[in-house]
Amino acid sequence: MSPRRGGRRRVVVTAGPTRERIDPVRYLSNDSSGIMGFAIAEAAVAAGDEVTLIAGPVGLPTPRGARRVDVESAREMQAALREAFKECDALFMAAAVCDFRPKRCFRGKWRKKEAGQERASLELVPNPDILSSLTRRKGDRLVVGFALETGDGLRRAKSKLEKKRMDYVVLNGPSALNSSKTSVTILGRDGSQRCLADRTKRAVAKVLVGLPAPGEAR
Ligand code: C5P
Repeated sequence: MSPRRGGRRRVVVTAGPTRERIDPVRYLSNDSSGIMGFAIAEAAVAAGDEVTLIAGPVGLPTPRGARRVDVESAREMQAALREAFKECDALFMAAAVCDFRPKRCFRGKWRKKEAGQERASLELVPNPDILSSLTRRKGDRLVVGFALETGDGLRRAKSKLEKKRMDYVVLNGPSALNSSKTSVTILGRDGSQRCLADRTKRAVAKVLVGLPAPGEAR
């Protein structure tokens, strides 16, 4: 890691969904709006951080003062993060990365082969786990990831925290999708647990941006 420029913390935030192409006009994606990630970028700029926002396809305005890199697929997001992560002090991985992508992307439109065809199938292959690939060389960076779970997701979120070597995981539910409000539980590697119920994503973003890095006093 190179030294901080002018003493400012260098923060990378990912936001929004990824889009995995089937053909030139079709894709697989999810309902992520990008609101949470954009709110984190905005809060980090307000806190004086130097911010790079790596955004999947969303129509949100760039927070003033943030450098924005637009990407479409998980593999594009991974490529954009490779250099940005090396140079950063903190990563907030709010993007909803598609777990799978079509094995092949058709050059032309995917068409029915013959009239009356009743079934078609699409072969999917797993996308890289971006966070896990980055945290192999985590160093003393602060790494905050997200887990969107249905039902009681505590156990799954804790397991992701460990497996993906995060410092904190932000557990939320599907009601957070496309909403300006959310309810989250922030689980720390240090065993800490903090619930923020029915808050604006801006308010949650402010708390996340204030989380201490590993080894930093609260
Ligand atoms: O999708 P999942 O619940 O496993 O996501 C947990 C965390 O891992 C999130 O922060 C997400 O951005 C990240 N992730 C990733 N690469 C993937 C899938 C998820 O970095 N392929």
